[in-house]
Amino acid sequence: MKLILLGAPGAGKGTQAEVICEKLSIPAISTGNIIREALKSGTEMGKRAKSYMDEGKLVPDEVVIGIIKDRLAQDDCKNGFILDGFPRTIPQAEALDAMGVVIDRVIDIEVPDDKIVTRMSGRRVCEKCGASYHLLYKKPQEEGVCGKCGGTLVQRKDDHPDTVKERLRVYHEQTEPLKAYYEKQGKLKIVEGQEEVADTTKLTLAAIEA
Ligand code: AMP
Repeated sequence: MKLILLGAPGAGKGTQAEVICEKLSIPAISTGNIIREALKSGTEMGKRAKSYMDEGKLVPDEVVIGIIKDRLAQDDCKNGFILDGFPRTIPQAEALDAMGVVIDRVIDIEVPDDKIVTRMSGRRVCEKCGASYHLLYKKPQEEGVCGKCGGTLVQRKDDHPDTVKERLRVYHEQTEPLKAYYEKQGKLKIVEGQEEVADTTKLTLAAIEA
């Protein structure tokens, strides 16, 4: 199964990707996590991406397309994958098609903008493994500590309110047109993001199987 999770930043794509990848035994691939890893290790790509990311802008298409090409060529992607945060522009979607990757389903998780701004302030991520948590909706068992790897939970720099507003603006301008792109291909399913993570997961799984 080859899936794409679409949706605004903070709509819960990452959390859903983590749950679904375990259920379907396929890897979840987050370009955001790959870029943050590169940034931590100080690679050239990481350094190039940093200023875009910090300002809430998109990293240039050729950089993320290169990342995805390398990642999808790895062995664990043979039986399928979930793309979380890619594609985010029409040229990225076209690049995926040009690679010959046939996507089965595109799930768009929809949450209104005003809810997103509130949600983002409670979001925390593990600085070691990238797992996501939320102070209200997905609390870690031990405060400030990742239940998966014991890493420290932090707020992402780009989750601060001003950057979130810019990320939403960029989302509506550059990423939202992908809904029409995949609708035309007959692959789009819309899921209304729910307050409870488990409720969104139920709807997402139903949309995958529909
Ligand atoms: P995310 O963790 O998916 O919210 O991504 C965090 C940031 O990484 C985004 O705000 C962008 O700066 C960058 N990024 C991640 N994926 C992409 C993509 N497909 N295209 C461009 N920039 C991306």
